[in-house]
Amino acid sequence: MPYVAETIARLKKSAPAEVEFYQAVEEVLTSLRPLLDKNPKYRKHGIIERIVEPERQISFRVSWIDDKGHVQVNKGYRVQYSSAIGPYKGGIRFHPTVYSGIIKFLGFEQIFKNSLTGLAIGGGKGGSDFDPKGKSDNEIMRFCQSFMTELYRHIGATVDVPAGDIGVGGREIGYMYGQYKRLTGSYEGVLTGKKLNWGGSLARTEATGYGAVYFAQNMLEGRGDSLNGKTCVVSGAGNVAIYTIQKLHQLGAKAVTCSDSRGFIYHEKGIDLALLKQLKEVEGASLEKYLETHKDAKYTPVSAYPAGRNAVWSVPCQAAFPSATQNELNEADAKELLKNGCICISEGANMPSTPEAVEAFLKAKICYGPGKAANAGGVATSQLEMAQNGSMQQWTFEEVDAKLKDIMKNIYIRASEAAAEFGEPTNLVLGANIAGFRKVADAMIDQGVV
Ligand code: NDP
Repeated sequence: MPYVAETIARLKKSAPAEVEFYQAVEEVLTSLRPLLDKNPKYRKHGIIERIVEPERQISFRVSWIDDKGHVQVNKGYRVQYSSAIGPYKGGIRFHPTVYSGIIKFLGFEQIFKNSLTGLAIGGGKGGSDFDPKGKSDNEIMRFCQSFMTELYRHIGATVDVPAGDIGVGGREIGYMYGQYKRLTGSYEGVLTGKKLNWGGSLARTEATGYGAVYFAQNMLEGRGDSLNGKTCVVSGAGNVAIYTIQKLHQLGAKAVTCSDSRGFIYHEKGIDLALLKQLKEVEGASLEKYLETHKDAKYTPVSAYPAGRNAVWSVPCQAAFPSATQNELNEADAKELLKNGCICISEGANMPSTPEAVEAFLKAKICYGPGKAANAGGVATSQLEMAQNGSMQQWTFEEVDAKLKDIMKNIYIRASEAAAEFGEPTNLVLGANIAGFRKVADAMIDQGVV
């Protein structure tokens, strides 16, 4: 059996039923084939066998008391995937769908994403099946404190530096940071995504969404085009989606949709960002409430989506920004986007397109920015937060944003150059995977069999 297939088969046997993890591994390893064929050293040093195996996986019980005095128990995870080029770095996700396969897929992707940024950060990811929805502030605090009471012994400013992800924003980072400090007595940059008055970085909140838009702009400029005047479809209504919409509007594009787990808004005039922020960042309300202010917008509940489809992708657009969650865009959705004239996809979310959808985009040779390249602005700015914490400085918004823009441009260049080197100049999946992998793999060879 060939090298890549052999590794995937062994993985499926040793980690049964972790489907999202297999999906991520198959995508990466398949696109590495031309590199592996050309460079037998990676096989000789067992790089593929080693890189698919996390250096460490921590799984723990998180017990806490709800407001009614009842005991609740959730599962907690931290996967420390690779420290070949820096301390483990990657977010924490709180969502009921979290299980080991989700955390491992995210951690695995994170290795290559972090490498692509050009910064010294390894790959990791964590989370819990805890659902923050409908919980009081006190319940969130008690849960976060209990989660950190186990996690604190495994992390540190030069060891592993978690950040936010789905369900984890400034409030949760705050409660976890407070508990870390209480347990260790140390005020250090052990988490990123902190609020500004206690060690956070300006532009971190905006970074993932802004970065996905900068990446789209780079891809389009590479073809003599730009975002200016384009109609854009965005999924999600959380951190990434909100700041994607903000940057699109700043650059003269028009975002006409946003979505959450219950449905989506289509507003032909362009999404009212101030209202969206009020609904999602302040009230935590359903998107349906958007209609109370804008009668000319349309709300479609998930129950009205055609079977097996995510209706947001049926809205005609020239550029699309999947910014909600994994596998939210399938082959039929991809074909509909292409049929309606979409020429650019920039993934704010992690692995939002199914393998068949990715195939359709690559075949059409449109601008397609895979998540590990397009959404790397978030983790890159987290690293900038670490740098500010380490030097006890705070940079201005403009300084951080300029660095972010530069990093996104360099990621685009690295991925495009690697794609061209292997004879597929428009294939940024191949380019991003090869460019990200090569740096980590060479570091692993230098550091010996560990
Ligand atoms: P948030 O929790 O802020 O927002 C997530 C949004 O996606 C919400 O609108 C949520 O709707 C929606 N959503 C989540 N799960 C589903 C689902 N199963 N079906 C439909 N809608 C869903 O998360 P973020 O914006 O931070 O993260 C979004 C994506 O971006 C994730 O894939 C994350 O891994 C990725 N990412 C985030 C980074 C960051 O810096 N935050 C960095 C890089 C990638 P509802 O509220 O109704 O659940």
